[in-house]
Amino acid sequence: MSHPGFDGRDDLMGSKRVADRYLKREGLGEGTYGVVYKAIDTKTGQTVAIKKIRLGKHKDGVNFTALREIKLLKELKDPNIIELIDAFPHKGNLHLVFEFMESDLEAVIRDRNIVLSPADIKSYLQMTLKGLAYCHKKWVLHRDMKPNNLLIGADGQLKLADFGLARLFGSPDRKFTHQVFARWYRAPELLFGTKQYGSGVDVWAAACIFAELLLRRPFLQGSSDIDQLGKIFAAFGTPKPSQWPDMVYLPDYVEYQFVPAPPLRSLFPVASDDALDLLSKMFTYDPKARISVQQALEHRYFSSVPPPTKPALLPRPPKKGESLSTKPMDFNPQEGPVVLSPPNKLRRVMVNRDGLDGLVAEKVEGGVRQKGEDTSQSKNIPMSIDVAAAFGSKPPPRPTLNSADRSHLKRKLEWEFEPE
Ligand code: ADP
Repeated sequence: MSHPGFDGRDDLMGSKRVADRYLKREGLGEGTYGVVYKAIDTKTGQTVAIKKIRLGKHKDGVNFTALREIKLLKELKDPNIIELIDAFPHKGNLHLVFEFMESDLEAVIRDRNIVLSPADIKSYLQMTLKGLAYCHKKWVLHRDMKPNNLLIGADGQLKLADFGLARLFGSPDRKFTHQVFARWYRAPELLFGTKQYGSGVDVWAAACIFAELLLRRPFLQGSSDIDQLGKIFAAFGTPKPSQWPDMVYLPDYVEYQFVPAPPLRSLFPVASDDALDLLSKMFTYDPKARISVQQALEHRYFSSVPPPTKPALLPRPPKKGESLSTKPMDFNPQEGPVVLSPPNKLRRVMVNRDGLDGLVAEKVEGGVRQKGEDTSQSKNIPMSIDVAAAFGSKPPPRPTLNSADRSHLKRKLEWEFEPE
């Protein structure tokens, strides 16, 4: 396969790269854009993580503009963002070389042996927001913030990974199971199909991560985009047009039954007043009214007691490979509601609220099943906002691969790890 600029004469990347500079070690996992493996940089002796992005699929998308943008990403340097050490094309794949990180925030949150104090939570959130603030200052959005993209180094520093990749390589593929998790962090304007989003999408996702640190489980676990909005509205009340004037003009806008917001305190019984105030400002519906990352960092939550724990003193999850127990492995198919929409623009989705126990989207008018959405119906969808679960001992079930996904992935891995 030949791509302009991908044949080794890589002048946009700076000096010519020799792929065998890196000694390939074990695979670290399959991500949104391809396989990630561990390697040693023979030039520096440093352990690195190499993300191999298949270009076949993106042959029209990854062009000189993309390469120029990767060059920009290489220039982003901050203690709270992961460093892109190198980028080079090799055998039809684009390889992105990052500093190797021992763990990630998802492993911290899932590890039941770890107790997170209010000061620890403050520290993790502060590092997340500092990394985001740096990138927003440079006009780079993340757009795919989730706990497993927040990596943790040997010194306890949290660093944002995958910055800008969502925009460079397109929206992550929703066919793959790991994308189910990303939906849980998606801002309402994205779920309503906005084409013009801004840094507010990262603030919303950071708020979901803040909530997850407090609850020790994902906060809003929607099983489809429609269900995700239903979960959001059940938590914060259905937005009124006065609260978010642009909402009704969004491309995928669907009218939801009005439900009032329960007190935020009832969802986060262990949070301080300052934490709740910041959380509510980050979860503001109208992206124009949502607090910015910089303003969030200046919020009194960060200056009030307790001070954030120093990174080196934060509780550590086991290093990668030492334990697999923190990884979500159970398959618990959480069926989504039937999503039906009429052939015309007038759509309405009902949110049935039985306290905070159930949430079902139902057809009200029309009769066309919406493409790409879940098609099974359940009257007993467990509500994510389960206060009891905040204190429970069971980690939240996450869907894993179905057999079609699994065989696809297997083929993909076999192909990706072909001896070179
Ligand atoms: P996703 O696209 O789903 O966020 P990634 O492509 O970021 O996933 O990562 C896939 C796997 O590789 C994950 O298990 C992740 O923890 C691991 N990984 C990614 N980057 C690094 C890194 N810099 N150091 C160590 N492990 C990494």
